[in-house]
This record gives sequence, structure tokens and C-alpha cells, in this order.
Amino acid sequence: MHVARTVADFRAAHAALTGTLGLVPTMGYLHEGHRSLMRRARAECDAVAVSIFVNPTQFGPNDDFDRYPRDEEHDLAICREEGVSLVLMPPVEEIYPEGATTTVSVGPLSTTLEGAARPGHFDGVTTVVSKLFAIVQPERAYFGQKDAQQLMVIRRMSRDLLLPLEVVGCPTVREPDGLALSSRNVYLSPEERAQALSLSRGLRRAEAAWADGVRDAEALRALVREEIEAQPLARIDYVSLAEQGSLAECAGPATRDALLSLAVRFGKTRLIDNVLLAV
Ligand code: AMP
Repeated sequence: MHVARTVADFRAAHAALTGTLGLVPTMGYLHEGHRSLMRRARAECDAVAVSIFVNPTQFGPNDDFDRYPRDEEHDLAICREEGVSLVLMPPVEEIYPEGATTTVSVGPLSTTLEGAARPGHFDGVTTVVSKLFAIVQPERAYFGQKDAQQLMVIRRMSRDLLLPLEVVGCPTVREPDGLALSSRNVYLSPEERAQALSLSRGLRRAEAAWADGVRDAEALRALVREEIEAQPLARIDYVSLAEQGSLAECAGPATRDALLSLAVRFGKTRLIDNVLLAV
């Protein structure tokens, strides 16, 4: 496994590779969710590259950039275990050179839900991901359904910019008790963690209701809200049922595939989760 700490070093190592390359972009502090992306990439590509870059431009002034968890040694051990060929860990100054003013923005899809709660977040994501694509030049790039809106935004960017790669979405990996894996879960106190199970519980309740034929958007959102509002430490940012393609909020009965998604705060920790409801 080659660990490249500069873009030039990555490009030199890349030049020595043959066959198809799969990229798994991450912010590090790797867990089983990231591993599942690496495994999928390994199964579908001749070689796998992982980028580890905590991207400052996708964090707002009140976000957790400074305290985002980091553990380089552990991350590299995981990449080695998963048979990764190349790791890209560039310094911030190389990704955002002095005087860089170009950004990538997909427009409306990126200003609702997470984009509304975190203004500028997705512009930071699309800008850094397009730079990572330019450096790594993968045939395929792997993203988690855990960040459903991010996956949609990146698919849109790749399509709109005619990027010569396939964006592959991978299922959300959960703890046995239902909590979606996230690097941010380490912030949770035991009490908060116990109450955070209400997120997946609420989503499962709505999923079961959907399977029973419930389509009323507000009724489905209410099922999720009820479960979370019963937790004294939980503060809901949003619970949304939106059309899968446009992310327009559903009103009345949902008639097409919909994304049920939520963001909830426990103290300073903000968790997101979602399920797809297919008609
Ligand atoms: P992050 O390091 O949080 O930026 O995540 C890097 C990639 O891993 C993104 O494509 C995420 O959607 C994906 N990811 C994070 N958590 C999970 C999870 N629990 N299951 C599947 N993919 C995940």
C-alpha cells in the first residue's frame, strides 16, 4: 500500500497502476461503514484508492472542524486490512492553494435539508470531490447511502459535468442495535447513545407503516418525530419526507419513491440518518 501525502506523489504512484481504479473518499476515523465501501470497490475494481481528507470548506463556522476525530495510524491499518493500493492524504494547502477561487455548486439540490441546515456545506463537498476526482481519476467512486443527499448531489455533479466515472451508492452499515455508524458517534455519552437509537427506531416504524400502505407524508414524519421527541436529550433539526429525485418535500400522500431523512442533535453532536421508501 502506497501512502501519498502530496498530489505529485499520488500521481506518480497512480501512473504505475494498471486496470480499473475505484475511489473511496473519506474524512478518516474509519469504521465498518467505510470498510464496506472499500470492499465493494475491491470487488468491482482492479485497485482501490482511499482519500483521507478532513475538508475545511464543508464545515460551517459553528461546525466541528477543529474537533473532528482523527486517527491516522488506525485509518492506515484499516486500509491495509482491506487491500487498498493507494491512500491519498493531502495537506489542506495543496487542495486549496493560495488564491484559489473556483468552486463547484450543483444548485437547488444542495440548498435543502442538510444544505439548509448547513449553508455552503454541499458547495464544499462538491468542490473537494471534484478535486479528488481530478487527482485520482477513478473509473468508479463509492459513497454511502448514509449521506443520501450527498450521494444525490454528487451524482448530479458528475452527470452535469460529464465526468467520466460511475458513482456507486452503498447501503448504510449499522450497529447491531440499529445506530448508523458514523465517525461522530464517538462524541456521544452513553446516555446520548442510548437515546440516539430512537433515530433508527423511528425510521423503522415509518418504514413498517409504509409497508402497511400508509402514504400520508405528515403521518409518516409524525411517527419518526414521536419516537425522537420522547428522548429528553434529543433536539430535532428536521424530519423530512421528500421526493427521491428532486428532494421536494412531500405534501399529502406520497405517490413516488421518497427519502425519509432526519438530523438530530444530542448536545454538540449532530447525527443524520435516512431510509428510502420505494413505491
Ligand atoms: P465520511 O468519512 O463521514 O465523510 O464518510 C465517507 C464515506 O463513507 C461517505 O460516502 C459516507 O456516506 C460513507 N459512510 C459513512 N458512514 C457510513 C455508514 N454507516 N454506512 C455506509 N457508508 C457510510
